[in-house]
Amino acid sequence: MKIFEKMAEYDYEQIVFCHDSSVNLKTIIVIHDTTLGPALGGCRMRIYPAEEDAITDCLRLARGMTYKAAATGLNLGGGKAVIIADPKEDKSEEFWRSYGKFVNSLNGRYITAEDMGTSVEDMEIILQETPFVTGISKAHGGSGDPSTFTALGLVQGIKACVGKVFGSTSLKEMKIAVQGLGKVGYNLCKLLHKEGVKLIVSDYFQDRVDKVKKEFDAESVDKDEIYSVKCDVFSPCAIGAIINDDTIPQLKCPIIAGSANNQLAEPRHGDKLHEMGILYAPDYVINAGGLINVYNELTKYSEERATNMVLKIYDNIKKVVEISKRDDIPTYIAADRMAEERIAKIRGLEILSKIDGSKIRLGY
Ligand code: NAD
Repeated sequence: MKIFEKMAEYDYEQIVFCHDSSVNLKTIIVIHDTTLGPALGGCRMRIYPAEEDAITDCLRLARGMTYKAAATGLNLGGGKAVIIADPKEDKSEEFWRSYGKFVNSLNGRYITAEDMGTSVEDMEIILQETPFVTGISKAHGGSGDPSTFTALGLVQGIKACVGKVFGSTSLKEMKIAVQGLGKVGYNLCKLLHKEGVKLIVSDYFQDRVDKVKKEFDAESVDKDEIYSVKCDVFSPCAIGAIINDDTIPQLKCPIIAGSANNQLAEPRHGDKLHEMGILYAPDYVINAGGLINVYNELTKYSEERATNMVLKIYDNIKKVVEISKRDDIPTYIAADRMAEERIAKIRGLEILSKIDGSKIRLGY
């Protein structure tokens, strides 16, 4: 892999390779962009087929964090860490302390957090070595599980979309199909039920489906039928890549707005939705409630402040839709443009869009 070529492709600032043989730690920390603030992003722990895959994953995820923070209006840059190890076998106190020392050595340019394969408990060990860690429990002055905030942000984003499509933000009597009833999906159903929404749900686990049916008067469908439910909003809250060649022809909804990361299997699927007139709320803008919550840990955590910031996801989604209409571009590109414009303004530069090479117009 030609590392500097890769870094130049999307303007990466720094890649740090860290190794501690005494605890078998191999980690890569990528700092993509710190224009808006320190690079915050989770630490992913997994076994990669090859080291090159770990680098590629970390580069992609770090850049995604730059866009997410910028589009959300946070004073954060984008970064990410990956640890090449087995989360079931390789964790120990010494291991996390060693990782924490490496994070600390970056003096706050990178702030770590939980991600796939890492937990609140791991973050609390890291906290012994560095203050540059978020996603810790309430008992340690952190914010705890972010999923209620993610769900609250989703409701705001859904309302913004419904307002654009139907002319009113009221969700009363709307039919919303929710895929995935885990931490976010369950909390979303709870909030939507209070708004008078008719829910149609699916999950792998029947007990989760039964609970939501009982508590929120939902209907359920088989997990493969959720795509073809005729509804006002389809809300994917399970896994990525569910907007793809197989599912798009089945869709019978004017809006897609859910929490799952990387919903579009490929960018062209976002183009297709745009062509079909389906309003897609870009995942990283609508699901930013959790990030907003951990951002608030960086200053003395206040639930009220975090909540008020999460409510602004409504405005962010509205802005994305406006840019999409103004420039006749799919919403996923509009979101990237919104993020790039903010970074460009702070840098005082007019940058070229990395999406389509067009000049960004400043001054929104
Ligand atoms: P979770 O693991 O608690 O729940 C996911 C649920 O989806 C599980 O109940 C699982 O059984 C179900 N599921 C998986 N595949 C399915 C399928 N094909 N059909 C139906 N159900 C299926 O995860 P979560 O924390 O609720 O997160 C949901 C999604 O939102 C993930 O993509 C996550 O990356 C993203 N996200 C979560 C947060 C957060 O605050 N938790 C923040 C941002 C993004």
